[in-house]
Amino acid sequence: MDQIQVTRSSMPSIEEYNNEIRDLWDSHWLTNMGSKHMQFQGELENLLGVEHVALYCNGHLALENILEAVQLPKGGEIITSPFTFASTTHAIVRCGFTPVFCDIDPDTYTIDADKIEALITDKTVAIVPVHVYGNICNVEKIADIAKKHNLKVIYDAAHAFAVTYKGTNVANFGDASMFSFHATKVFNTIEGGAVCYHDDSLEQRLKDLKNFGIHNAEEVAFVGGNAKMNEFCAAMGICNLRHLDEEIKKRGAVVARYRELLGGVRGLKLCDAQEGVVTNYAYFPVVFDKDEFGADRDEVFHKLAENGICARKYFYPITTAFDCYKGRFDPADTPVALDISLRVLTLPLYADLALEDVDRICEIILSLTGR
Ligand SMILES: *Cc1c(COP(=O)(O)O)cnc(C)c1O
Repeated sequence: MDQIQVTRSSMPSIEEYNNEIRDLWDSHWLTNMGSKHMQFQGELENLLGVEHVALYCNGHLALENILEAVQLPKGGEIITSPFTFASTTHAIVRCGFTPVFCDIDPDTYTIDADKIEALITDKTVAIVPVHVYGNICNVEKIADIAKKHNLKVIYDAAHAFAVTYKGTNVANFGDASMFSFHATKVFNTIEGGAVCYHDDSLEQRLKDLKNFGIHNAEEVAFVGGNAKMNEFCAAMGICNLRHLDEEIKKRGAVVARYRELLGGVRGLKLCDAQEGVVTNYAYFPVVFDKDEFGADRDEVFHKLAENGICARKYFYPITTAFDCYKGRFDPADTPVALDISLRVLTLPLYADLALEDVDRICEIILSLTGR
């Protein structure tokens, strides 16, 4: 029996990639903002409709760099969500800020914008909301709150590449957005990431942060690190970008099949489409209610695993429940996020997942109903 993984990285044909990297054997220019890097950056600026894109070796360092670049007072409080990947909370902590955790909306699993204002103190400096699964945050309400209280908004948009809201690409919301191009994401550059932003004055600071603050051969003007995207990753991005629409369309067909088979089943909660949002079908989360459905999340996870199918408890645990934060944060402060993390499973989803495999996955899940 074939194993089914939770995801499978999108790749161009080897001929297409070979063709793209052939120039590198002529130039011997492998990194440090070469021609592939510059081309890919320009293509992203066009696609996303945003003034500036800065490319990174991964999404996490992109997030750390933009948190540094906006020059917020150190030790300040940043309101964020614990229902996310380790990266979001770690970036805030590693940059010397104090995360303050806001609960999530029970339908979109993004930060509950109605609960943000109650958490604002005179130490609050920013909001770092997370778009989750291809759902987007309440960007309008967050913009109003930020304006009223003079706070920066940096989105973790790792799950939301190519998502639009009312015709605008998500890259345009807030002061900046971070995207991840990790192998497991909808769009990948093997590893990689980007920051999208509006403010021209951030350009030099982001360059400094990602390339040692080197301005020229004899002038090092800033204590920066190294987080550049190399030419091979940029070439992968150029290739994968050509197939993005087609990949998202195929993911949409997989999601439609899941919805057909699992929609309306007692005790299973699926995400509703969000009004005005064109999603990228990044993940397919199902939240299980044991009393209604007949089995809990962990039983479903194990039953699928017995059948060679790898689903993912994502996000579980929430970041406030991590061992490294024991005694520092309390998962009970965000009861909705905690509850969802104990009941959610994201099912296998990638462009080439066969619809017959979706049928088999759903059959196994549904075999557990009403026992
Ligand atoms: C993947 C991911 C990141 C980190 O991106 P990397 O490219 O792996 O460093 C950050 N936040 C979220 C929500 C993610 O899913």
